[in-house]
Amino acid sequence: MLGPPGSGKGTYASRLTAILGVPHISTGDMVREEIKAQTEIGRRIKEYSDRGELVPDDIIIAMLLERLKKPDAQRGFILDGFTRTLKQAEELEKLFRINLVVNLNVPDEIIIQRLSNRLVCRRCGAIYNRLTLKPKVDEICDLCGGELYQRDDDKPEVIRERLNVYRRITEPLIRYYREKGVLKDVYCNDLMTPPDVIVEKILGFIRDMEKEEAEKKGG
Ligand code: AMP
Repeated sequence: MLGPPGSGKGTYASRLTAILGVPHISTGDMVREEIKAQTEIGRRIKEYSDRGELVPDDIIIAMLLERLKKPDAQRGFILDGFTRTLKQAEELEKLFRINLVVNLNVPDEIIIQRLSNRLVCRRCGAIYNRLTLKPKVDEICDLCGGELYQRDDDKPEVIRERLNVYRRITEPLIRYYREKGVLKDVYCNDLMTPPDVIVEKILGFIRDMEKEEAEKKGG
């Protein structure tokens, strides 16, 4: 899933994972878990995450490749928040063939609205929004009863930096994947579009991709 912060990568990926039966792997969640657990890596990466900057490639690539060795990832996976640099894309490609890159196009006004109203479950990581995806009970996760909180990096000054980093460093990957013929665009111009509408579009791309792959194999 490619797209700026707040474009819905995590929301859509978590729904797709339930439908497709392959894991949703979010490097942002992995970063937050390391920081929360105060591991050696967590201590090294906290300052980058707090400032809205990218964690150095060697650290994040090693974390991701370790995760991809686990048994649940052997049939495929949905990546959310990875790749974010050209180096990451090149390293991933050495080991895996990427079938589909979904590029989420969302205007900045919507991103800022979304991020500044986003709430995340402290226990299971489920994503909510004060305006558009409210929990049934205020500040409590519908799925696990955990407490909802605002991410530290969803504060206005950090949001601005994360968007800058995205435009400067990650956006060039759109062209990279487009040239490889694996990129599909999704447009979301309305804050109130229900996530399932976008998920259905992505499932359509997956069905097309599977059909093409089957035809290639058959022919
Ligand atoms: P996210 O939840 O995807 O917005 O990620 C939160 C933070 O984790 C980012 O602002 C970065 O500091 C770090 N991070 C997550 N994924 C990556 C990545 N692929 N490369 C570098 N830093 C990352």
